Amino acid sequence: MARRITWNGTTEEALALLQALQAHCECRSDAGRTVAPCAVHVMLTHDQRAIDGLLFMRRMAARLVTEEFEPAEKRPAANAVAV
Ligand SMILES: [Zn+2]
Repeated sequence: MARRITWNGTTEEALALLQALQAHCECRSDAGRTVAPCAVHVMLTHDQRAIDGLLFMRRMAARLVTEEFEPAEKRPAANAVAV
């Protein structure tokens, strides 16, 4: 029985994923039919945890970059360390 995959992101996030997929899809097709799906398409149709992980990291990426490269005094107060 096939697992049901649920998109838990926004429409904007779905469009960004589709754009990335179009740029990196390596499915093999013959006469308009897919004969060998690429790894990305297999993931999107079988791995709920991976899809949720992609969303989580997309949402965390800006925060992680900020924490890594901005000086502590420029970070939002929520990230400040109490002394
Ligand atoms: Zn593909």
